[in-house]
Amino acid sequence: MPSAHNIINIQKTWNKKEVVVRTCDREKNLKNCNCTYEPCSRKGICCECVSYHRSLGQLPACFFPDDVEKTFDRSYARFAETVMSRQAWW
Ligand code: SF4
Repeated sequence: MPSAHNIINIQKTWNKKEVVVRTCDREKNLKNCNCTYEPCSRKGICCECVSYHRSLGQLPACFFPDDVEKTFDRSYARFAETVMSRQAWW
C-alpha cells in the first residue's frame, strides 16, 4: 500500500493497465531545500510544494537565492527581477 507521499501513476497500455509506483525521497529532497519557513509541513515533498505555490501564483523557495528566499517573497515578479539583476545564480 503506497504511503501518502507516494504517487501512483497509471499508464494505459495497448489493452491492459500497468501501475507504476514512484516514491518521494523526502530526505534526499531536503538536501536541496533552502526554505527557511520552519513550520511548513511540505518541506521535502516537492510535488506538494510546487502545487501549493503555483496555486498562489508563486514559485517555491528553491527558485530563489538564499537572501531573497528569506524575504518570503516568492512571486513571479520577484523571480524575474532577481534573474534580470543577477543572471543565473544556481
Ligand atoms: S517553499 Fe513553501 S511549500 Fe515549499 S517548503 Fe517552503 S514554505 Fe513550504
